[in-house]
Amino acid sequence: MPIANCARCGRIYTRVRRDICPKCVAEEDRAFTLVRSYLSEHRNADMAELTEATGVDASLVVALIQNGRLILRNNPNLSYPCERCGEPTQSGRFCRRCAKELSLALSAASAQLRTRAARPQRGRQRGSVSR
Ligand SMILES: [Zn+2]
Ligand SMILES: [Zn+2]
Repeated sequence: MPIANCARCGRIYTRVRRDICPKCVAEEDRAFTLVRSYLSEHRNADMAELTEATGVDASLVVALIQNGRLILRNNPNLSYPCERCGEPTQSGRFCRRCAKELSLALSAASAQLRTRAARPQRGRQRGSVSR
């Protein structure tokens, strides 16, 4: 049976289909239900109010949002800091501006990689030209 370390609590468990252990899955399910029902009743709640009212850790709330389980649509005040610039964001790891900048930087980097990879190939081709 596959044994893994829980990605959340580090406990060793028998891996079924999640990368977290059954105890953490149960905890996440419970947190998700609490958070979702609180937010549907208190649309203007912010993170401090939400964590205080539900007892759910902010990092778990953020994890639920980041893995796409909890989707914020009508909760304008609930946000968490962008991992890059610290501006408040409501989805993913980065704010909209950083996500855009990062994807630009990423495509520039991969374009650079492509040119670098293409160079020796051109060299080989030139070398193989018979005179
Ligand atoms: Zn766990
Ligand atoms: Zn940002």
